[in-house]
Amino acid sequence: MTSRGFALFLLFSAVARADEQDVPERKSCDERELERNRFYTDVKTHREISLTLSHKLLDALPLDEVDGRFIRAVKVCVFSQSQPTPLKDPLTLAAVSQDALRNILDLNESVIQNEEFVLCVSGGKLFPGSIPLAHRYGGHQFGYWSEQLGDGRAHLLGEYTNRKGERWELQLKGSGKTPYSRSGDGRAVIRSSVREFLCSEAMHFLGVPTSRALSLVVSEEPVWRDRFYDGNVIKERGAVVLRLARSWFRIGSLEILTRSGEFDVLRTLSDFVIKEHFKSIATNNPDKYAVFFSRVVNETAHLIAHWMSVGFAHGVCNTDNFSLLSITIDYGPFGFMESYDPNFVPNSSDDEGRYSIGAQADVGLFNLQKLLEALKPLLTSDQLSQCQQILREYSQTYHQRFRELFKAKLGFLGNQENDSYLIAFLLKLMEDTGADFTMTFRQLSEVTLSQLQTGAIPLSMWALSGLSSHEYFRDWVQLYLKRLSRMKSDSDAARQHRMQGVNPRYVLRNWMAESAIRKAEKNDFSEVTLLQKTLTEPFVEQEEAEKAGYSNKPPSWAQQLRVSCSS
Ligand code: AMP
Ligand code: MG
Repeated sequence: MTSRGFALFLLFSAVARADEQDVPERKSCDERELERNRFYTDVKTHREISLTLSHKLLDALPLDEVDGRFIRAVKVCVFSQSQPTPLKDPLTLAAVSQDALRNILDLNESVIQNEEFVLCVSGGKLFPGSIPLAHRYGGHQFGYWSEQLGDGRAHLLGEYTNRKGERWELQLKGSGKTPYSRSGDGRAVIRSSVREFLCSEAMHFLGVPTSRALSLVVSEEPVWRDRFYDGNVIKERGAVVLRLARSWFRIGSLEILTRSGEFDVLRTLSDFVIKEHFKSIATNNPDKYAVFFSRVVNETAHLIAHWMSVGFAHGVCNTDNFSLLSITIDYGPFGFMESYDPNFVPNSSDDEGRYSIGAQADVGLFNLQKLLEALKPLLTSDQLSQCQQILREYSQTYHQRFRELFKAKLGFLGNQENDSYLIAFLLKLMEDTGADFTMTFRQLSEVTLSQLQTGAIPLSMWALSGLSSHEYFRDWVQLYLKRLSRMKSDSDAARQHRMQGVNPRYVLRNWMAESAIRKAEKNDFSEVTLLQKTLTEPFVEQEEAEKAGYSNKPPSWAQQLRVSCSS
């Protein structure tokens, strides 16, 4: 229970007691009974889990005819039925996203008091209406086709359509074996679950399209992992995250159908995705698959540009981790770049740096080529040529979006000829000096123009002041000031305000996640809560976050940190 939830619970109990005592004597017995009933109904509706799930996916898409959890090669279907395996007690609800609870699932905060809630969000009990499924997908991993992958440790619980009419799919991760578990144990450990919970919520509040996380439950389930693939297997503990997305379909969802020659299922699934998630494409449009492809190309280019604008490296950009809705999914060994370096590789298992931050745009193109190969059986030769042309335009779409985002980061309004040059010039200075990506842009948003003009950059602006040691920094500043001065009706305060709205002060740095994880592994979730709270408002300076050093230079021990695929 969060402290806020607990406070509300106490408040509610106090109000309830007062309510009972305050029933005036003169009321009749019937009236009193009515009052009391109303009160208990309120308590009940506040506290029961009124989340009923439906299953459009199950109704519309082919299901595996083989029943049972045993591991197998699955054919001619999109889902297999699979029950979650409950985690070993005692369970602790380590974190909840109040925003997801209220604004996605329409639930009242008090629901987390209900003992059944922790069971429902960890696979120990099913929400009303839930029929759990595991999705069959394949994928290109590190450039090579990997055959069947699928939800090896995830269970899709069903869909919820909220008050706003939005349809969300609820999925557990770490909830036990499925037919797709291959040699895995179906579990996820605390450290990777904390990272996924915190980062997916953080990305949402940074404005980046992403899956969401409702809750994090930790358990006493022993889970054995070789963290750095060095033969040192240690006992960790299992955790489950309840994840939410408008859709969990990936490029690999279509790839496996084409690779297996299951073209009818391919058409059924593509039609379903278009009808449900690309509503502006008419179902009778003869070019609908090509139009769908062009949308995914466009949105994927936008997503990767957005990642770059916050210094986010996904870490494992395989086609099974690339969403058809172009949202960020499957958080693993991701990282936020600290010292600016296009070769930054967050995943210590990625020896060749295939998924370095600077390679993400190209990898996006590779993945979209794989999507086109998957859609090929549905396209005429003319449509295929159109799609190939669309792919040729991907790079331009990406660069255009990148430019727009970085112009906003620099506070520019309108277009000017040398904008791209100014962006590239700054990034080069940052690369040469190893300037901190997040704080350089943030401090450029906080510094005044007169401080820049006179070179009186306060030492507290540690990133900017480090950057100013570059021999060409003054040259860049002169060009920058000139560019800003051309925006006649702009003021310095307005520029700072605009820039502070797009340049976060806080991102989930590895050392911050690591520090929270070390405590969480000892059942102290205070830092998970603090980080969660901080990252809900990443653009706003916060006292507690400052005290915790979240906008400081990363501590020296952070340099030794490694994050691998082990999870
Ligand atoms: P990921 O690297 O998490 O995107 O996972 C790649 C594939 O491996 C997916 O099919 C996962 O379901 C599967 N996988 C990863 N870890 C496990 C595990 N512990 N048990 C079963 N399957 C797993
Ligand atoms: Mg994955």
